[in-house]
Amino acid sequence: MSSPVQPVFRFAPSPNGALHLGHAYAAIVNHRMAREMGAKFLLRIEDIDRVRCTPLLEEQMLDDLSWLGIDWDEEPRRQSDHFGDYESALSVLVDAELVYPAFLSRREIRQCIDHKQAQGSHWPCDPDGSPHYPGDERNWTKIDLQEACHSQPIHSLRLNMSKAIAHVGRPLVFDETGRGPNGETGKQEANSRQWGDVVIARSDTPTSYHLSAVVDDALQGITHVVRGSDLFHATSVHRVLQDLLGFPTPTYYHHQLVLDSHGRKLSKSAGDTSLRALRLAGVTAHDVIRMIGLDTGERQP
Ligand code: GLU
Repeated sequence: MSSPVQPVFRFAPSPNGALHLGHAYAAIVNHRMAREMGAKFLLRIEDIDRVRCTPLLEEQMLDDLSWLGIDWDEEPRRQSDHFGDYESALSVLVDAELVYPAFLSRREIRQCIDHKQAQGSHWPCDPDGSPHYPGDERNWTKIDLQEACHSQPIHSLRLNMSKAIAHVGRPLVFDETGRGPNGETGKQEANSRQWGDVVIARSDTPTSYHLSAVVDDALQGITHVVRGSDLFHATSVHRVLQDLLGFPTPTYYHHQLVLDSHGRKLSKSAGDTSLRALRLAGVTAHDVIRMIGLDTGERQP
């Protein structure tokens, strides 16, 4: 008889600013769920943005988490130590010809879309608000792309989403045990088509959030992804990448977000709700748990 496999959870913050009440909520919900299930709880430091993520912010982040009472079971995995893993995954997508070099800079993308909108056309956006890529490199021949690579800077590598969906060739699903932003729960069909050709790697970073999250979830054996409902739609991209890369699919639990008094998601620049500022003002971890509406006992929220 095989022994039951221990579930594995992960909390994956980015040290690109001070942690705030929203992170406290996310970390505590995740940690409590893992501990109640007898699961392993891993910490992953998502620091691929080498400009905004700094060692000092990472140190403060770990300190804030410990102060909140969060503990983790292994040495944290720092993404910037593993760029080689993302490059290997990227090469699988490149070899399958599902990725293309994009030559438009951010500014050129904006100008191109402004021009189209001025002519009255509605331009689609990804669920995270980024406009779909307006360039047409996805339709260029291999020879044209090769020539362009020699004469122009490549700004990013993008997933050809339509081709990727065709390559997958069947509907993809995932189990939502929490709730998406519109109350989505239960078995979900991935809606990958709502995304354009997402960035998979940039000229200055050999990966992207989507690629590295999917690779790490697989390499770390993550069985349960717990995160904010703002990332619910990203799961549709993650399902495509998991399928293309031959990775298993974790179970997902998307939780509500902590909002400010205007109903907006807290941002890392919201100094007054940073855990550091609250600590300095004498607030205790227990107070924080109460402030974010979680049970101060040990029962599941
Ligand atoms: N690094 C992401 C964040 O801080 C979380 C990504 C995830 O949980 O998939 O919002």
